[in-house]
Amino acid sequence: MHDIEKPVRVRFAPSPTGALHIGGIRTALYNYLFAKKYDGKLILRIEDTDQTRFVAEAEQYILSALEWLGIVPDEGINQGGAYAPYRQSERKDIYHTYAMQLLETGHAYYAFDTPEALDSMRERLQAAKVASPQYNAISREWMSNSLTLPQEEVEDRLQRGAPYVIRFKMPHKQIIRFYDQVRGWIKVDASTLDDKVLLKSDGMATYHLANIVDDYSMQISHVIRGEEWLPSAPLHVLLYEAFGWEGAMPQWVHLPLLLKPEGHGKLSKRDADAHGFPIFPLSWTDPVTQQQAMGFREKGYLPEAMINFLALLGWSPGSNQELFNIADLIAAFSIAGIGKAGVKFNIQKANWLNHQHLLQKSNAALGEYLIQALDEAAIPYTLAQVSQVGELVKERAHFPQDIVEQGKVFFEPPHTYQSAAIQGKFTTEVHTLLQELVTVIEKVEIFTAPVIKEAIVQVLEEKHLKLGAIMFAIRIALFDKTTGPDLMRSMEVLGKATTTQRIEKALQAITPVG
Ligand code: GLU
Repeated sequence: MHDIEKPVRVRFAPSPTGALHIGGIRTALYNYLFAKKYDGKLILRIEDTDQTRFVAEAEQYILSALEWLGIVPDEGINQGGAYAPYRQSERKDIYHTYAMQLLETGHAYYAFDTPEALDSMRERLQAAKVASPQYNAISREWMSNSLTLPQEEVEDRLQRGAPYVIRFKMPHKQIIRFYDQVRGWIKVDASTLDDKVLLKSDGMATYHLANIVDDYSMQISHVIRGEEWLPSAPLHVLLYEAFGWEGAMPQWVHLPLLLKPEGHGKLSKRDADAHGFPIFPLSWTDPVTQQQAMGFREKGYLPEAMINFLALLGWSPGSNQELFNIADLIAAFSIAGIGKAGVKFNIQKANWLNHQHLLQKSNAALGEYLIQALDEAAIPYTLAQVSQVGELVKERAHFPQDIVEQGKVFFEPPHTYQSAAIQGKFTTEVHTLLQELVTVIEKVEIFTAPVIKEAIVQVLEEKHLKLGAIMFAIRIALFDKTTGPDLMRSMEVLGKATTTQRIEKALQAITPVG
C-alpha cells in the first residue's frame, strides 16, 4: 500500500484561528518532506470557512512561520497555481454547486430546524437516555427537513428565504471501511455518526464539504494530517462515495498525537507553559486578550534544529541516526516510518539538537551572533576575533544567546569581580601566585595555548602545585566567571596584552581573603 502511483500532491490546510501550534508545523513538515521526496507539490490552502473563529492576523502568522522554517509551498495563497483560489472563503460558489449536486442525488437534504428545535431534540434524546444525542438517521425523522416535509412546503420555505442548512444524509446501516497508511484498515459503523451540516445558513460550506471538494478539485493524492482528524475520515470517505469520486480518493495518513513531556495526554499550551518551553513557532500576541506567548524562534531555536526535531516526532528513520539536515530528511523520509503511538514532546532533545546544529555552523556564522550584540553595545571587535570566540564558546552553547553571553566577555573586561567574592578562594597565596604568573605570561613569545600552558605549568611544578590550584583565579581575573571554555585557548584568543592587562587589573581590584 505504500507504492506511490499518482503524481504526489499534498496539502497543508490550516485554519486561521490563532497561532499555529507546533503540531501543525509538524504536519506541514511531513507534507513537505513527502512532496519533495516524490517530486510532488505541496499546496498551502487556507481553510477559513468558519467566520466565527477567524483571526485576521493568523494567516500572516502561518506564512511567516513556514517561511522561517523553509517550508515553501509550490502552490498556495501567495504562489498561486492552476487550482486557485487557495483560500476557501474565495471558493464559496464552488462549494454551493457541489452541495446542490448532493441534494440532487439524495445524499444531502435541507434542514430548517430552529436552534430551539435542535435544543429540544437534544433534550428529548437525553431524557430518553440516548448515549450521544445527535441529528442522525433516526432523529431526522421528526425534524423539519426536506425528508419529512412535503415537497411544496420545502419549496415554499426556500422561496420565502427561510433559513436552512444542508445536511449530509448519513446511511443508517453501513460499515464504512477505509485504509489508513499508518493505522491499517479502519471500520466504523455509520449508525454512530450524525448528519453533519455541509452548508451553513450563511451559505458557506463547513470544513467537511469544503475540505473534500478542494482535495478532489486540487487533485490531492495523500492527506497527511493529525490524528485529531481521524474521526472525520469516515464522513470524508462517504462524501467521496456520494460524489462518485471513489477512484480519486486520496491515501489517508493520520499522524500520531503529540503528548505531554510526561507522556500522558495530548500536549497543550498549558503543559508547555508549565515546563517553560514554547508551543508556537514564532511569538504571538493574542489579538483579543493581548496575551503574549514566546515562540521557538525567539527562544533561540534554529530553524534547522526545529525541522530535525519535528521530523523525529512521529517518524523514525529506522536507524540510530538523530542528526539530519533537510536534504537527509527528504532522502530518508517515508510513510512507512511513521508510527501510530503518541509521541512525547521531549524538549531536552530539541535543546540537544539545537546545540548540534549550532556546532555545524561556520565560525563566521557563530561570530555573527556576537557582532550584533557587540554593535548594539558599541564594543569594538575584529572579524577574526569574533570568529575565534564563536568557535571557542560553541561547545558550551545550546542557543545563540549562549554564544553572546559567553563570548561578549572576551571583548569587554569585567568591571566587578562578583565571582571572586562568591568563591572566597581568592586567598593571599593565590593572589601572590597570580602576580608571579603575570610576569611569566608576559614573557611567553609565541602566544598560543600550548606554549602558555607550558609556561604556567613550569612555574606550578616548581612549587609542587597543580594547574587546578590557579585556573579558577585566572578565569575570575579575566572574565569574572567560574566556568567557561578552555582557559589556555581563551588566553590565546584574548592575546597577550589583554590577558596581562586584565590580570593586573583584577589583582588591584580583588582584595584577597585570609
Ligand atoms: N483545516 C483543518 C485544520 O485546521 C485541516 C484538517 C485536514 O487536514 O483535513 O487542521
